[in-house]
Amino acid sequence: MSDFAFAPNPNCVTPDARAALLADPGFGRVFTDHMAMIRYADGKGWHDAKVVARGPIPMDPATAVLHYAQEIFEGMKAYRHPDGATALFRPFANAARFNRSATRLAMPELPEEMFVGSVEALLRADADWMPSIDGASIYLRPFMFASEVFLGVKPSAEYLYLVIASPSGNYWKGGARAISIWVSDQYTRAAPGGTGAAKCGGNYAASLPAMAEATAHGCDQVVFLDAVERRYVEELGGMNVFFAFDDGSIATPALSGTILEGITRDSLMMLARDEGLTVREEPYAIDQWRADAASGHLREAFACGTAAVVTSIGEVRSANGNFTIGAGGPGQLTERLKDRLVAIQRGTQADPHGWVHRIGPN
Ligand SMILES: *Cc1c(COP(=O)(O)O)cnc(C)c1O
Repeated sequence: MSDFAFAPNPNCVTPDARAALLADPGFGRVFTDHMAMIRYADGKGWHDAKVVARGPIPMDPATAVLHYAQEIFEGMKAYRHPDGATALFRPFANAARFNRSATRLAMPELPEEMFVGSVEALLRADADWMPSIDGASIYLRPFMFASEVFLGVKPSAEYLYLVIASPSGNYWKGGARAISIWVSDQYTRAAPGGTGAAKCGGNYAASLPAMAEATAHGCDQVVFLDAVERRYVEELGGMNVFFAFDDGSIATPALSGTILEGITRDSLMMLARDEGLTVREEPYAIDQWRADAASGHLREAFACGTAAVVTSIGEVRSANGNFTIGAGGPGQLTERLKDRLVAIQRGTQADPHGWVHRIGPN
């Protein structure tokens, strides 16, 4: 699937300006010259697939997404391998999840080949934007929104699907560290029957006050409890969570419909099982977490997702007091699993599960 029309940007960033941007791109602030775009209309289906100059998308003030938030997105990274090839990590898993999100928000599914093809077409157009600094990548953001101009509450009859690309620096510049997290007792992220398992913008909008509360308490991230009992750990605002115990086992909250099914989460479970570790998916209560941290039964905890890959959790703070995990710093098992996953993603170690998707010349 590479039948994307290509209209090259006549005003690309100059090579010198690009080099300056790529020297220290940070995250989510630098963008490439192009974007991929596909339109959808009821009766017509997906059409007009193209790669064009990145730029504003003119919008009528009555465009449905601005009112009822019918919007979903994905997040994935492309890496430069040692042989110079550009590679994606499990892009068909992102494509499948995109369609599950679409179904939950009453949006049309996009054929998986078209999803992956759009990302490949954009990466080919913007190949010069891969930063060469250590640990860098191009973060890709496919998204889709309701583009019909209509204020009635119903699924939109038209959608716009886009992919933009953002060169990113090394997330762990300055070495591994451990984050502190705030347990939200006021806000929940997702309720049974809701949209917690869908990657939609609305979930993030609703998580912002909890994130602000975390920041006000000096924490890096917020962790949410389940909406029914307010007891079981679910996940962070945009990352899944794992616990590592002194018996060599690891555990992560089970996918119950309220937790986002992370591809990093799934990959780490497989890598841990490859190592012979016991991996459990089960509910884990916040009081248990506190008790296990105090007794030493819990050795490490970590958060995971595409952006940061894997990050140790050193301290948990809440209205009921704070506790530290291990010595409060990066965990050994956490760092080992992270190194293993990063090495597969970046092509410096073998890829036993066939996760790496290399992008050919066209
Ligand atoms: C995207 C996301 C994750 C992590 O998913 P990955 O596929 O590992 O990047 C976890 N939680 C939420 C809420 C997310 O939106």
